[in-house]
Parts: sequence; structure tokens; C-alpha cells
Amino acid sequence: MPPSFFFFLAFLLNQSCSCAQCLNPFDGAKFFEKENRLYCESDYQALFGARCARCGETITTKSVTALDMKWHPEVRPSLKI
Ligand SMILES: [Zn+2]
Ligand SMILES: [Zn+2]
Repeated sequence: MPPSFFFFLAFLLNQSCSCAQCLNPFDGAKFFEKENRLYCESDYQALFGARCARCGETITTKSVTALDMKWHPEVRPSLKI
């Protein structure tokens, strides 16, 4: 089992955790884990979020990697650029 699982479990048991970046408590909001640190959604996207190579928007869902760039899954990058 990855260590992050235990960290996640510890978080569930201890609801006082807060964002590692802005230090705001999650308070039931969506959060993300990265390298054993927890971030609120906006900070996570700002720090680690992938941006679509086509439209430039942050990709909050699963991204597609092609040509060493990230894309929205609905974008089918053409290999002929
Ligand atoms: Zn934050
Ligand atoms: Zn896009």
C-alpha cells in the first residue's frame, strides 16, 4: 500500500487538516494530495494543475499526454503539427 494511503487515512481520522499552501482548513471542501501534502483545489491546480496545450485552460479531469504536452481528453491532438 502506498504511504499516501496512510496519510489519507490519517486525514480522515483527523479533520483538522488544512491546505499546505494557503493554510485554510478544508472544512469539507474538495482537496488533493501531492507528496504527502494536502492542498485545496485552487492551490493544487495553480501549483500542479496541467494546462491544456490547445485551449490553455486548467485540466481538472483526466488529461491526455501527447507530444510532451497535456490535453483535455476530448481534444484529440493531431500528430501532424
Ligand atoms: Zn489552499
Ligand atoms: Zn482544452
